Amino acid sequence: MTPQILDGKQTAATIRAELAAQVAGLTTRPPHLVAVLVGDSPASQLYVNAKAKACVEVGFRGTVHTEPADITEGTLLGLINRLNADPGVDGMIVQLPLPKHIDEKRVVQAIDPRKDVDGFHPVNLGRMVLGLPALLPATPAGVVELLRRNGVATAGKHAVVVGRSHIVGSPLSILLGRNSPEGNCTVTLCHSKTVDLSRHTREADILIAAAGQVGLIGPEHVRPGTVVVDVGTHRVADASKKSGYRVVGDVQFDAVAPIVAAITPVPGGVGPMTIASLLSNTWQAYRAARD
Ligand code: NAD
Repeated sequence: MTPQILDGKQTAATIRAELAAQVAGLTTRPPHLVAVLVGDSPASQLYVNAKAKACVEVGFRGTVHTEPADITEGTLLGLINRLNADPGVDGMIVQLPLPKHIDEKRVVQAIDPRKDVDGFHPVNLGRMVLGLPALLPATPAGVVELLRRNGVATAGKHAVVVGRSHIVGSPLSILLGRNSPEGNCTVTLCHSKTVDLSRHTREADILIAAAGQVGLIGPEHVRPGTVVVDVGTHRVADASKKSGYRVVGDVQFDAVAPIVAAITPVPGGVGPMTIASLLSNTWQAYRAARD
């Protein structure tokens, strides 16, 4: 069977075009997203640059603050406070992970929830749980938007989420289970202590792989008809590539795709949707500051 490919690259391009049209109609300054990058991790640099580039593409302003890896927590918190107070900044992200000597939780909580376009702040997570307007966590919001825009119905379906991190699995399980048009699933949340993972995943109508384990999900974890969303992102060595690596997910794509109804590719699935969510959140923050 040939599965439907849930094309995140294409879907994100549509969202960017919609945002660009909104920005083109503005008579005020465009939205401004600031990314704070600490250290010189090539992966983090790549992610931050992709976000800044996406800003420019839709007509936003995108600024990257690069700070040294040995920045003190106090200096970083000072920068966040200045960005919080700056009326010319609508959205802010601090690229994770941070160096070990910095308390990530303290940094995330220092961001003004109104500018927290990653949607990691407890205020936004709490508002999401209560079904109140919120800046939703970017990757989970990107996943539900990818499903919605590609005609994957969620109401009454059984969603199995593998992974319970605070930034992906847990909030996604809540979004999919909420009483909302993009929710209303019955949700099972699996994690590292789950016994007999395939027994649960084979029950899924919608299977979300967000465990951060290369190729964890194989053909034995799915059944015909399942919709598979692969959040996992890993670089594995590949001498045939100019870069020396290729990007793979948590799902064994080649073995799983022929069995299932729909599947996201890696790359080109959830990754571009996360960036699209960041842009949408920045637009939402910008509008909220003016309404
Ligand atoms: P994490 O390491 O914080 O959490 C992983 C979760 O998976 C944990 O809750 C753990 O209990 C569970 N888990 C680990 N091994 C398991 C197993 N064998 N069986 C069942 N559950 C298991 O990871 P994260 O930050 O949530 O990220 C998950 C993956 O998603 C990573 O590969 C990350 O790079 C990727 N990611 C991609 C995007 C994107 O935009 N595409 C965004 C965020 C994260």
